[in-house]
Amino acid sequence: MQLPLPLIKNVVLVGGGHAHALLLKKWAMKPVVGVRVGVNPSPTAPYTGMLPGHIAGHYDRDELDIDLVRLGQFADARLVLGAVTGLDRQSKTVIVPGRPPIPYDVCSINVDITSMMPGLPGFAEHAVAAKPLDGFAARWAEFVDQASGGPLSVVVIGGGVGGCELALAMQHRLRTIGATPNMAIVDANEILAELGERSRT
Ligand SMILES: Cc1cc2nc3c(=O)[nH]c(=O)nc-3n(C[C@H](O)[C@H](O)[C@H](O)COP(=O)(O)OP(=O)(O)OC[C@H]3O[C@@H](n4cnc5c(N)ncnc54)[C@H](O)[C@@H]3O)c2cc1C
Repeated sequence: MQLPLPLIKNVVLVGGGHAHALLLKKWAMKPVVGVRVGVNPSPTAPYTGMLPGHIAGHYDRDELDIDLVRLGQFADARLVLGAVTGLDRQSKTVIVPGRPPIPYDVCSINVDITSMMPGLPGFAEHAVAAKPLDGFAARWAEFVDQASGGPLSVVVIGGGVGGCELALAMQHRLRTIGATPNMAIVDANEILAELGERSRT
């Protein structure tokens, strides 16, 4: 009797951050047949879920980094270092400059969220988007270094889970350096609107 051939698919993951790191971990824990390739500009990617802990002062910046080489080996996925510049949907290939085209049957793209920075006067000079994470972490470190004791006002724009977590983390950090933080969270709608009543309070 001939056994059916396994269905082999080329799966290409563009971006090795939060979303795909979790997917690779699941694949490693429950292997599936197929060819897996991850494409990311660098061999590590910071894990956003730990950003509030870093802002609060619980973790150093390098503790946030996911080692994509090790994770790839664990999940039996090949890692290609580079930034994807396009997809050729005709030939079903992913384009990375300086590399041969990478064939795909399924291509998943998760290359970060981008903040919708409002075009308000002063916004570009005084506000910092939480993502990309490195810019935010670096500006926060500068702010904490320059801060002295006494009252400090911090405004967080966006009252979702991420914004509230960051507000609490910043408040904690500023208290640990002897400042008296005055925190405000601004949202066009209700703060933590997506959560149930018990989690909100
Ligand atoms: C403070 C805060 C806390 C959060 N906490 C959580 C949480 O606990 N749980 C949760 O589910 N979500 C959380 N989120 C939301 C979450 O961070 C985002 O939804 C998530 O980061 C998006 O995943 P991603 O993999 O697309 O992006 P990222 O994790 O940012 O990774 C994107 C990757 O793509 C790479 N990349 C960029 N351009 C290219 C390119 N052209 N080619 C190849 N690679 C490229 C980058 O180098 C990077 O490694 C939080 C967000 C914030 C702001």
